[in-house]
Amino acid sequence: MSAPPAPAAPEAAARAIELRALLQRAAHAYYVLDAPLMEDPVYDRLYRELVELESIHPELVTPDSPSQRVGGAPAEGFTSVEHRIGLLSLDNAFNTEELERWYRRLLRELDRLPAGEEQPLPALAMVSELKIDGNALALSYENGVLVRAATRGDGERGEEITANVRTIQSVPLRLQLADPPAWVEVRGEALIPDATFAAINAERTARGEAAFANPRNACAGTLRQLDPKVVAARRLDFFAYTLHLPDGWQAGEGDRARPTSQWASLQWLRAAGFRVNPNTELLPSLAAVEGFFAQWEEGRKALTYATDGVVVKLNDLRLQADAGFTQRAPRWAIALKYAAEEAPSRLLRLACQVGRTGAVTPVAEFEPVPLAGTTVSRATLHNADRLSELDLHAGDTIVVRKAGEIIPEVVRVLPELRPAGATPLELPHRCPECGSELVREEGEAATRCVNSSCPAILRGALRHWVGKGALDVDGLGGKLIEQLVDRGLVASIADLYRLDAALLASLERMGEKSAENLVAALEASKQQPWHRQLYGLGIRHVGEVNAKVLAREFPSAAELGVAATRAEPETSMRIHALFGIGEQIAESLRQWFATPANGRLLAELKALGFSLTASAAERTAASRGNEEGKPLAGQTFVLTGTLQSLSRSQAQARIEAAGGKVSSAVSRKTNYLVAGAEAGSKLAKAESLGVRVLDEAELLVLLPTI
Ligand code: NAD
Repeated sequence: MSAPPAPAAPEAAARAIELRALLQRAAHAYYVLDAPLMEDPVYDRLYRELVELESIHPELVTPDSPSQRVGGAPAEGFTSVEHRIGLLSLDNAFNTEELERWYRRLLRELDRLPAGEEQPLPALAMVSELKIDGNALALSYENGVLVRAATRGDGERGEEITANVRTIQSVPLRLQLADPPAWVEVRGEALIPDATFAAINAERTARGEAAFANPRNACAGTLRQLDPKVVAARRLDFFAYTLHLPDGWQAGEGDRARPTSQWASLQWLRAAGFRVNPNTELLPSLAAVEGFFAQWEEGRKALTYATDGVVVKLNDLRLQADAGFTQRAPRWAIALKYAAEEAPSRLLRLACQVGRTGAVTPVAEFEPVPLAGTTVSRATLHNADRLSELDLHAGDTIVVRKAGEIIPEVVRVLPELRPAGATPLELPHRCPECGSELVREEGEAATRCVNSSCPAILRGALRHWVGKGALDVDGLGGKLIEQLVDRGLVASIADLYRLDAALLASLERMGEKSAENLVAALEASKQQPWHRQLYGLGIRHVGEVNAKVLAREFPSAAELGVAATRAEPETSMRIHALFGIGEQIAESLRQWFATPANGRLLAELKALGFSLTASAAERTAASRGNEEGKPLAGQTFVLTGTLQSLSRSQAQARIEAAGGKVSSAVSRKTNYLVAGAEAGSKLAKAESLGVRVLDEAELLVLLPTI
């Protein structure tokens, strides 16, 4: 006999109480008020944490725990009705490992789990259905006529909403059966298509009402309308998926015979006049189910209604009965959910990063959490304002989001789960790298370290100089730069070119060969074109695009320096004219060239063999391009998302007029992706290929003025 589990530590008991209270409030807001307090995946993870705590410490389970019940109590204002057969929830799996664990448990329940760990698992046929993000309904038919429709409620009692359900066109009011049973109970999902959902929310927002958080809440809100005309106008839909027949009923043949499997039940429902979701498959094994799940991960995006996973059901109804139910869900079915884009996590530490401009970025470090297919444990908090807006405290539970390929961010905190007496977090007053006082200028979002010899700033400047868009030096990564700066071997960009192979070879993780290669790569970088050198200098606001435009107009550092610092209006006008709104760039160039240390850096680079000048070929290309008005000759663009000031076709025409090419798909050959609002998968692809992404303002800078 195994020993009883150890009593729960006080922290576990306190956490269970805290989670229970929060989840109860959230469930009420969700099921009864149709106004969720938190995102579903956040609820799911906290719920999972509670279930895990309760399974380790069963003495912590209380009868009112959300883990012991289904849904929420029926809302007031409707007659509550008892379900003929309990209407349960589904257990969840968040990945295929959890799906396999569920399958093993199911086999054990059915006495079919092989004794040896290594033995292959027997394959049971399963029906895979889409998990539609709507509301479960129970429809009762007597002698073939719809007599009652109810919501799930708490699983035992639901709200009677027959008048509203009668307005749903895909719910038959009479079954198409010649000889219907005395009663039939049909379950399925009522849903609101995406387009209707968007229209309802637009109307609500226009009326100053809160928008529904998701189609499921909108559907629940609609089903609970007191006026069936409103429900009719919203055109809900219904997919049937469960059939209950009286014991012993036997009639009809073919599709109308008593079904003995879930698959046959779906055919029966279809023959009786219900809509059954066409994206449903009878699959022979778990591996096939995993394939179905993977296929619909992408496929669901083309559907006109929301789905958040796949429901897997054992096909054989006799085996289903053998497997039975837990208190809140059948053992013979599971909902396999798609990767969440939001999740809660516990904050471990507030770190700070000092960038090459001295800007200090607060970074949240938290317990690793799986998000949109990867595990994340850090997210930027941008700046001091965002930090105070979030009202972050030590040990807070935070909600982290990562949509698709986008960088993770902290969306908000859950103050309900804040440890007692937690202290608020703020940016340090001193630079975490060099200890000097941090400065925040009026009107600036960034807090900065202004010590130009701060090692963090130097490391950033070096990383930028050797980066892809700049001098593109292979073999000089972040770790090596850190060593070079920490050991005092490099104190400026110019020092990189004074390193010799023997010295480099003596550093950690450097062999003789790689040291020689690095010296050669540095030497070769001296031949990079002038616009890359200019970009590499890291002058504020001079990104890759601006550097190209400037280099074309000012073919040497000397000319640019003169123009930038000259008081004569017509010279600085030239810079302004280049950028339209280039006030900021002109000012930043002026400051950079007026700083004596930068003048010394240019002189040193020159002495080391940099031209800091456009080559004859670059000049000819630039002037030919400029003369012909084709500065974008040889450059390929892809457009995505919605631009503000230009239509797609206008943007295309102007790029082509400037000699550029516009293509429809992003590839390695693409030079620029122009991303407007709501850019989609092309943006993700461009980022993964390292293609330069321009916003609309940057594109306008590149285009000749018309
Ligand atoms: P569930 O949504 O995870 O699964 C059960 C439900 O799936 C069924 O009742 C049915 O309505 C639906 N379903 C869709 N397609 C189906 C199909 N083909 N076959 C069978 N059922 C199908 O469980 P739940 O108990 O309804 O609710 C839990 C969900 O509600 C979670 O996603 C949770 O995030 C969310 N929730 C959120 C909050 C919040 O605060 N955001 C609070 C409570 C619950």
